[in-house]
Amino acid sequence: MSGPRSRPKKQPPTKRVNEKHLKRERGVKELEELERRISEFDPKDVTTFNELPISKSTANGLKLSHFTTMTEIQKQSIPLALKGIDILGAAKTGSGKTLAFLIPLLETLYRDRWTQQDGLGALVISPTRELAIQIFDVLRKIGRAHSFSAGLVIGGKDMQAERDRISRLNILVCTPGRLLQHMDQAAGFGMGNLKMLVLDEADRILDMGFRKTIDAIIEHLPKTRQTLLFSATQTKSVGDLARLSLSPNAAQYVSAHEMASSSTPANLQQYYVITPLPDKLDTLFGFLKTHLKAKILVFASSSKQVRFMFETFKTLHPGIPLMHLHGRQKQTARTDVTDRFAESRHACLFCTDIAARGLDFPSVDWVVQLDVPEDADTYIHRVGRTARFDSTGRALLLVTPSELPGMQARLAAKKVPIEKITIKESKKKSIRQHLQALCFKNPEIKYLAQKAFISYCKSIFIQKDKDIFKFADLPAEEFAESLGLPGAPRIKFLNSQKAKELKNKSQQISDDDGSESEPDNDDEGPTASNGNAKENVRTKYDRMFERQNQNVLSRHYMNLIKDDDYGRPRADEEEDEDGGFMSVKRRNHDLSDSNASESETEQIEPSNNGPATKKKAQIDNGPISNRQAKAALSKKAMSKTGPNPTKLVFDDEGKPHAIYEFEDEEGFKKYGDAETQKTEFINREEQRMRKVDVVDKAVAKEKRKEKKRKQRERERLSEQDDGLVEEQDEEQSEGSEMDDVHHAPEKRKKWFEEEGRAKRVKADDIEIDQPKTLDDLEALSLSLLRK
Ligand code: ADP
Ligand code: MG
Repeated sequence: MSGPRSRPKKQPPTKRVNEKHLKRERGVKELEELERRISEFDPKDVTTFNELPISKSTANGLKLSHFTTMTEIQKQSIPLALKGIDILGAAKTGSGKTLAFLIPLLETLYRDRWTQQDGLGALVISPTRELAIQIFDVLRKIGRAHSFSAGLVIGGKDMQAERDRISRLNILVCTPGRLLQHMDQAAGFGMGNLKMLVLDEADRILDMGFRKTIDAIIEHLPKTRQTLLFSATQTKSVGDLARLSLSPNAAQYVSAHEMASSSTPANLQQYYVITPLPDKLDTLFGFLKTHLKAKILVFASSSKQVRFMFETFKTLHPGIPLMHLHGRQKQTARTDVTDRFAESRHACLFCTDIAARGLDFPSVDWVVQLDVPEDADTYIHRVGRTARFDSTGRALLLVTPSELPGMQARLAAKKVPIEKITIKESKKKSIRQHLQALCFKNPEIKYLAQKAFISYCKSIFIQKDKDIFKFADLPAEEFAESLGLPGAPRIKFLNSQKAKELKNKSQQISDDDGSESEPDNDDEGPTASNGNAKENVRTKYDRMFERQNQNVLSRHYMNLIKDDDYGRPRADEEEDEDGGFMSVKRRNHDLSDSNASESETEQIEPSNNGPATKKKAQIDNGPISNRQAKAALSKKAMSKTGPNPTKLVFDDEGKPHAIYEFEDEEGFKKYGDAETQKTEFINREEQRMRKVDVVDKAVAKEKRKEKKRKQRERERLSEQDDGLVEEQDEEQSEGSEMDDVHHAPEKRKKWFEEEGRAKRVKADDIEIDQPKTLDDLEALSLSLLRK
């Protein structure tokens, strides 16, 4: 898996045949030898990878990646997996589970003499994109001497580009949602040959969140495959195993640390501090100020809080680089932040639970949990981002007085050793006033604070473990104040039935007028404060309108959020601190620039002295040519820079009037008193607006229809073209090895190139001589039609 193979120099045919023959013989011998070693293998005293019955290619890859001695879970699970047994692997965070499944994966395909033509042989599923990327990187490292093609399919990328490659992959590392998307879209997605399925963080993948997706994926997979499940908090649920067609008797449960006194790494020190909810941000800020030379991960319960913390803390310049990571960022920003945090020596990354599982950031010193995790398992995974492999680490949990008893009980039940600490008074820092000032000055920050408040409350409300999460105990007003808000925003929770009804109605309305319904916003609950269901029915456009009219949601806010919520890249890291957040770009009209072009000269700003004097002054100041000076004083320039002209209207007698002329009071009262006139005016305008609205809607509907029609047309055309392009692609693909879908070439460019090529095919003879499938027939008839 070392990238495209370099082409060997041409040799005489007989010599080549001989060499091929010899090579094949050697390969067969090595395989026989391997099989023999595996059957005779006694896994008891093995400690190094060298002693394992594995291929030279894998052994080489491990050596080149500096892996020599095996960890406990590797020692226990790899030999069994090599014998083809299904594994349920459980071992603490950071104990090397990735190699425990990647080595058997490579070996299975190697021993099956897998080639590119055999299609997909192994599938690794990860719950998050970042973890999938990490697994893929390890696979690339240790599999570098193999010639399998491997790819990464994680979403946030172009579907078409990914789809083109999937059919040529032997190993696929992916996230569940994206995989299913491909399976649904591509008929005949080739999974029939699959030899091995790996679920990393298996308990997470098998839990409720992914249930439907995983069940749908499993349906496509052959039952005779080998299955490996790994996690620090492994599932033993018979139901889960049945879903994977695993029999509890046949699958081997391998636990490296079952007898250990704790379920967290031994070299991890864990603390908790009792912090009332309104004091949390102060405590966190104080913590950061006293740990400037550390690498810190801070977990919060929602992306809104992460953003609020990031945007506000950076204005406080704590003295440590700040970064943030959550699921509502664009993939490029996510990857960028992940890479930069991995490389940083001192930094603080605010994140949601997307970073809780599996990520192997080097040398993290502290994991701070601003909000308690939803359960003890999530706690174990969060703190597992530090003290990985043989390094040390520390973890701090901020827990409110009402959460403490419940949380303590849950952690004790899971064998988590955690100590209480208190914070020195002298180290406490209050940032409340600063946040209040920020919210007062910046509507954007205030808006983020409101969102953070709402999403926190919602997160408490929806948690299952009511021994820990007590919504009624929330000190709402104080909490809102601590975020800098003048009061607690109103939240109204509807019961699920009612919420469903509202959603359906809203959908009906928007469907009726032909528009697409808006996807659910995962962080906001229904917040309408009016109990009347009818009035609560809001369409996409109502919502847009409401948002635009909240005076806190200004254009600046749109700029602020567009990068993460709407997908454009943003400078979201510490470099931003000085410039970014609210800065306004100014146009620079430098008249003294001797190279100023004519048009630049025309952009003279009006001043208090009047345009002509200003112009004169500017002209006197700088070495401006006569031509430029003339242009500056031209009528065109004057019209641009002079004072606003007064618009006049002329009556029938040709007398000028200002557009708005004041009427005298007598004249005004002639038409009734001010109140009635106002009402009449409003009524009149309302009627007019209604009429216009009907016309507007009709026009808009027509436009939408037209757009959809065009889109369908385009899709139809592109499907036709696709048929031709794909055939060419497959031909071209022969001989390519490591195929990194993650770094796929740009789709647009590729598309145009290939479209060109497709046309060339059309111009020549038709390439399909014997139509075998329906596709062939279609392509044939199309080409004939176009000829
Ligand atoms: P887990 O999946 O159990 O949380 P990882 O597979 O991510 O752990 O491994 C944690 C770290 O330990 C990684 O940085 C990895 O490179 C390192 N590691 C794993 N196995 C070994 C080994 N046998 N020798 C040295 N380092 C290892
Ligand atoms: Mg892992």
